[in-house]
Amino acid sequence: MHLIVIGGGAAGFFCAVNAARMNTALKVSLVEKTGKLLAKVRISGGGRCNVTHACFSIPDMMKKYPRGGNFVKKAFHEFFTEDTISWFNERSVKLKTEKDGRMFPVTDSSETIINCLLSEAKKYNVGIRTNREVRSLVKTENGWTVQYTDGESEYADFICVACGGYPKENMFGWLKETGHSVEAPVPSLFTFNMPGNAITQLTGVSTEAKARIQGTKLEETGAVLITHWGMSGPAVLKLSARGARELNAVKYQFTALINWCPGYNENSLRETITNLRQSNPSQKIINGNVFDVPRRLWEFLITESDIHADLRWADLSTGKLNALIKNLSAHELKVQGKTTFREEFVTAGGIRLPEVNAATMESRIAQGLYFAGEILDVDGVTGGFNFQHAWTSGWIAAKSISARSLSAK
Ligand SMILES: Cc1cc2nc3c(=O)[nH]c(=O)nc-3n(C[C@H](O)[C@H](O)[C@H](O)COP(=O)(O)OP(=O)(O)OC[C@H]3O[C@@H](n4cnc5c(N)ncnc54)[C@H](O)[C@@H]3O)c2cc1C
Repeated sequence: MHLIVIGGGAAGFFCAVNAARMNTALKVSLVEKTGKLLAKVRISGGGRCNVTHACFSIPDMMKKYPRGGNFVKKAFHEFFTEDTISWFNERSVKLKTEKDGRMFPVTDSSETIINCLLSEAKKYNVGIRTNREVRSLVKTENGWTVQYTDGESEYADFICVACGGYPKENMFGWLKETGHSVEAPVPSLFTFNMPGNAITQLTGVSTEAKARIQGTKLEETGAVLITHWGMSGPAVLKLSARGARELNAVKYQFTALINWCPGYNENSLRETITNLRQSNPSQKIINGNVFDVPRRLWEFLITESDIHADLRWADLSTGKLNALIKNLSAHELKVQGKTTFREEFVTAGGIRLPEVNAATMESRIAQGLYFAGEILDVDGVTGGFNFQHAWTSGWIAAKSISARSLSAK
């Protein structure tokens, strides 16, 4: 029996090497349209490959997927974080955990992951073909004919589609022909552009903040980093992922509201400042930063509130007090456009999840057709969650295909 895996990325390799190992009699081929294998693994995590995240609770983990949370919840019961760690460990690849929970190979090099996957492929005789692009899949009575763009074709009993996220809907044409439908792709994990905004002069300032999108329920707390083009940092990236569709619908033109003092709300800020005015009336406001706001940002917000650098608490008018509270707790920043986060971007959208069985990764529409990785309408926030989904779905597809091929013998 023959399995053809389409796509030489993390999900495709994980499916291919595991299927070949679980049933050594199964012929496994992996086809990749470009000349490069595991290209994203190589550049991921700044060349270190953020393999997974040290989260060992399925309910906590599923919340990290703005799309596909319920789907991965089922899948994680089959293959979860500790399985990823053990799988690599059994092949002498040790992972370490950083303070924020991201897990990397101890070598701090994505080459370690690539070498491990390539050597497994060699060990279990996975036939790898690069520069081979699938043009269409045609269902036959018992299996599939895979047609390539070079005019050749090949028979397979099982297909695993692991071709990654396609940025444009027309690229899904060959998969739609198999009877599947797709959620339109939109980018996820991007930073916010704020051209001409004076705050960009504070480039490099990073602080804990609560970021919201005006007119929506989208809200995230975490580090916000001011850049020369706008805003970035974990809170902004998480917002971009949660709001991937809503923000695309408004063409990335919206207002972000930032609370620079996430431990306070408007009322508690007013109370604290009122107490400061009474207890320390002669103090210059510029020296009265009790909110842990970075100094440059505090000075900026004071200027934004039209408060002179020499003004003392006692002389602060109600109008300027209100402006300061507003700028500290709900600073309005106009966002006009986005910038792809070069470190780790993904495509939201893909094959609709009701059409795929999360326990086997097999299509519910076409027998013998399996999916793994980013081609599915699953995407996670930054931190190793997208690779974990690639390993999980690749492994489940492998297990299910090898079991089917063994029982068919
Ligand atoms: C710069 C960057 C850094 C990242 N860093 C991280 C990180 O540290 N941690 C994390 O969890 N996630 C990270 N991600 C996201 C993660 O890389 C992806 O979610 C993951 O690689 C998806 O794996 P995949 O195998 O599904 O798809 P891919 O890795 O995209 O592989 C799909 C492959 O299929 C091939 N293909 C497509 N169509 C065809 C066809 N018709 N015929 C044959 N081959 C085809 C493609 O050429 C590609 O090689 C990063 C992403 C980027 C872009």
